[in-house]
Amino acid sequence: NRSGADGETIHFYSESVQADLDERLTVEAQLRRALERGELRMVYQPKVALESGRIVGFEALLRWNSAELGEVSPVRFIPLAERTGLIVPIGAWVLQETCRQLARWNAGGAGLKVAVNLSPRQFDQKDLVPMMQRCILETGVDPRCLEFEITETALMRREGEVDDLLHAIRALGVELSIDDFGTGYSSLAALKRFPVQRLKIDRAFIRDLGRDEDSAAIVRSILNLARNLKMSVVAEGVETAEQLAILRALACDDYQGFLFSRPVEAGQVPALVERNRAVAAPAT
Ligand code: C2E
Ligand code: MG
Ligand code: MG
Ligand code: MG
Repeated sequence: NRSGADGETIHFYSESVQADLDERLTVEAQLRRALERGELRMVYQPKVALESGRIVGFEALLRWNSAELGEVSPVRFIPLAERTGLIVPIGAWVLQETCRQLARWNAGGAGLKVAVNLSPRQFDQKDLVPMMQRCILETGVDPRCLEFEITETALMRREGEVDDLLHAIRALGVELSIDDFGTGYSSLAALKRFPVQRLKIDRAFIRDLGRDEDSAAIVRSILNLARNLKMSVVAEGVETAEQLAILRALACDDYQGFLFSRPVEAGQVPALVERNRAVAAPAT
């Protein structure tokens, strides 16, 4: 150990690095056991058609209630799961669980749709598409009721390599959407080429709607782009009636956010849909 002011700085720095590492190892060790301990569960947030107010589907979101750490946010543990490769078994569980749930809901003909988030690390999983296929077959879900969300950043980082994979996934009969759109750097050529049906506008732009003109301009451009490419658009993170009114004026297709509903437990989904169908305009 060196002495003096310099040494102190180094000492202080390495201590905080050590603390980060310790914390990460604890979380990682716990996450490794989360699956077998049954600490993971899915919650579901409705997506709503702007015009009719009708629920058009749900996004499946992972939750981890750790015995040691309590409720841990996916913003913290998903990146960790990606770094360690744990996202592969966890991602398989997410899909299995969501399909199982969806098959149950739709057994009576409800026709619900659910979107599952895909991590870029799962692209490297050799048997990703067969695994998806197996999930669909084993649970009996209609693949048309299933969607995968992939973030724009993840997709564009792998722009030149993912065409075949995206087409193979799409060929299962499922839909694809680009998540957090507007934060990455989409190549227009890639957007045109990819078999994607939907863009989800990142929450950052929705948050500033009504506060800053640029965000409205960006949302308008995304809507134009999507229309030209024959894609539909979901606005993420709608929290206020004002944001909703602006999105309606811009003729956005669907929205999702705390204003309508936070993510709900699986058990609450059927009642939520039933209530919504009683009050919303009929499907067109
Ligand atoms: P995402 O896919 O963009 O999901 C939307 C996030 O926004 C969710 O956070 C949701 O709870 C939150 N949200 C929805 N409406 C509002 C709103 O009105 N205001 C605010 N402030 N937030 C809203 P969550 O569940 O914490 O998930 C965070 C991220 O973690 C997700 O972002 C996704 O990237 C990742 N994630 C979650 N579940 C999974 C999963 O099963 N697999 C993978 N690979 N990633 C997941
Ligand atoms: Mg998502
Ligand atoms: Mg998103
Ligand atoms: Mg996100």
